[in-house]
Amino acid sequence: MLQKVEGPECPGCGCQQSELVGTSTRKLLQGQQVISRETVERRQCAFCDRRFYVTTAERPANVVFVAAVRCPHCQSTDTKVTSTRGNERFHRCHTCQQPFKSIER
Ligand SMILES: [Zn+2]
Ligand SMILES: [Zn+2]
Repeated sequence: MLQKVEGPECPGCGCQQSELVGTSTRKLLQGQQVISRETVERRQCAFCDRRFYVTTAERPANVVFVAAVRCPHCQSTDTKVTSTRGNERFHRCHTCQQPFKSIER
C-alpha cells in the first residue's frame, strides 16, 4: 500500500500528498567540525509522480562551534570564551584560571 504523508508541496501540482522514497544526510564541515547536518528527503508525488527533493537543515541556532583553543599557559583545551572584540577572542582557562587572547583568522 502506498504510504501517503501530509508533507511539503509538490513543485509540479502543489499537492501535499507525496511518498517518501528515501533520505540521505549531508554533513556540513568547517575544518574537522560538523557545523550543520542536512537531511535530504527524496519524495515522489502521489498525484503527478513528480520526484523532488526536500532539504531540512538541522542547525542549532544558539550554538556556535569554535575550534578548540589551547591555553598558552598550561596547554589545556578546557577553555571558555569570555568575550569578543572584532576578530579578537578573550578566553579563560578552566585548568589554570589564566586569561588569554586569540585572534580569529
Ligand atoms: Zn504532484
Ligand atoms: Zn591554562
